[in-house]
Amino acid sequence: MKKSNSCARPSAGGGKVDFGQGIIYKIRITIPLFPLLNGVRIMSMGYVDLHLHTTASDGVLSPSEIVRYAKVKGLQAIAITDHDTIEGCEEGLSEGKKIGFEVIPGIEISAEHSPGSMHILGFFLDIHHPFLNERLAYLQKARAERNPKIVEKLNRLGINITFEEVVKASGGGQVGRPHFANVLLEKEYVRSFQEAFDRFLKKGAPAYVDKLRFTSKEALHFINESKGVAALAHPNTLGMNGYSELEKLILRLAGEGLKGIEVYYPEHSAGEVAQYKTLAERYGLLMTGGTDYHGIEKNGLDIGVGRGEMKLPYSIVENLKAVRNRSLLGR
Ligand code: AMP
Ligand code: ZN
Ligand code: FE
Ligand code: FE
Repeated sequence: MKKSNSCARPSAGGGKVDFGQGIIYKIRITIPLFPLLNGVRIMSMGYVDLHLHTTASDGVLSPSEIVRYAKVKGLQAIAITDHDTIEGCEEGLSEGKKIGFEVIPGIEISAEHSPGSMHILGFFLDIHHPFLNERLAYLQKARAERNPKIVEKLNRLGINITFEEVVKASGGGQVGRPHFANVLLEKEYVRSFQEAFDRFLKKGAPAYVDKLRFTSKEALHFINESKGVAALAHPNTLGMNGYSELEKLILRLAGEGLKGIEVYYPEHSAGEVAQYKTLAERYGLLMTGGTDYHGIEKNGLDIGVGRGEMKLPYSIVENLKAVRNRSLLGR
């Protein structure tokens, strides 16, 4: 961690906390059920990371490992946001409980969009909600039908690869294109992970097979139905042509149930961050942030800090909770 947060963490029990330059007291108050409505702000010192992948999708660390790693790194809370699955949440939550660390059950849904790609994050999902589970099972079925077609295409291109090898590379979680890329790399058909995507797997490449995606409206509907708070992930991948096109899209999504924008993200330029902040403020949307850490060192990217530039305050989590509570009240 480059810019590690050097201050001691407030202990879960509250009381005295030494921040190095003196003593600050953590105020212990009973957390109100609806902080927004009561108008009470709770001071929190820790940092958070609200965009992380585990072995349940294409991450390298298991949910327990990522929770322990986040704690070791001194974070206060994380959200587990695997692609199209909540399979890692239960394990992450129970590890968090065991070691005293806050874990937010989340997801990252790929939605129908062009010309770029649209990902929608969901936080604080009720992971046992039947409608959410039914929708995700439907997605998993579509994915399971797609993956053997990629193997077939690769075989036709003269590449000796079996579906079993890809399943093995996935470590038992959901199978995705990154696992195909790893097998291609391991078998020396390509020299890098990126080359596997560029030559074979990316959209438009010869072994690409599209998968079923929900529309943004459908994804936002089941996130909201399952008591989640939805935020648009990394808007810079949408491929929007300028501010006004993005503004129109954000407005549409807000009408469909979007509650936030992932403003802080390692791949966003300062200009993009400023633009997304303006949009969030203008339309009353929450600002969230996360590193999209997949458990592997990727150009120096690490959990919580990104490439050293991220410092996401715990107030982001408090704001998400407030919006969740408010919408639950409205039910
Ligand atoms: P899948 O869900 O199987 O379609 O795989 C999607 C994942 O593949 C994304 O989350 C990325 O991690 C990775 N990915 C997609 N497109 C590219 C690309 N052009 N280059 C590198 N990785 C990619
Ligand atoms: Zn991923
Ligand atoms: Fe994403
Ligand atoms: Fe992601």
